[in-house]
Amino acid sequence: MAAAADAHLSLLAYGDVAAGCTRCALAQTRTQVVFGSGSPTADLMFVGEAPGFHEDKQGVPFVGAAGKLLVKLLEGIGLTREEVYIANVIKCRPPGNRDPSAEEIESCEPHLWKQIELIQPTLIATLGNFATKLLSGKPNGITQVHGREQQVVLGGNPVTLYPIFHPAAALYTPRMLQVLEEDFARIPALLGRAVEPPPAPVALVPPPEPVLEQPTQLGLF
Ligand code: URA
Repeated sequence: MAAAADAHLSLLAYGDVAAGCTRCALAQTRTQVVFGSGSPTADLMFVGEAPGFHEDKQGVPFVGAAGKLLVKLLEGIGLTREEVYIANVIKCRPPGNRDPSAEEIESCEPHLWKQIELIQPTLIATLGNFATKLLSGKPNGITQVHGREQQVVLGGNPVTLYPIFHPAAALYTPRMLQVLEEDFARIPALLGRAVEPPPAPVALVPPPEPVLEQPTQLGLF
């Protein structure tokens, strides 16, 4: 309990420092820093790309359309967004939602490393190319590596890295949604948790015995 309270305080304190960050030019165009949200002691952490319009306004990651899909996918495996930790590689919205530059990623990286060090998740799901390449340290794209976990050391701790497609990629592509659901379905096992058993089939009430019509005995007389 004390350790959990410490983790919460340290993360809050670090978030306060990051809120004033001016390490790159995005500080001039952002509404606010979108640090991260969820449990400071989560076993499972998601890392996306960068805040968009809604995230920049609300100060919370993944609250737009892609975020709503992320929450639905989480619910599908019995988790809520409060039980996990959600962050991005880049903490400030790039204008017009353009891709972050290499310099912006480099400037922002220390915030993500610090979050990982403080939260100590055992499983990090990287959403899409940016997070996957940064955290794996490898150039392989998400199409090649999605659904394939790898063991790494991050923030001084052993972590399972699990690349999956970014939910935004599945918003309008049913096939992609299916892939994402399949990759999500493995998360409970990767967390070392029992997979929720599917709900028991509803017991069928046996159909009533057919009432056999009594053959009418024809009287002989
Ligand atoms: N919202 C986020 O917070 N991050 C993304 O990568 C996309 C949408």
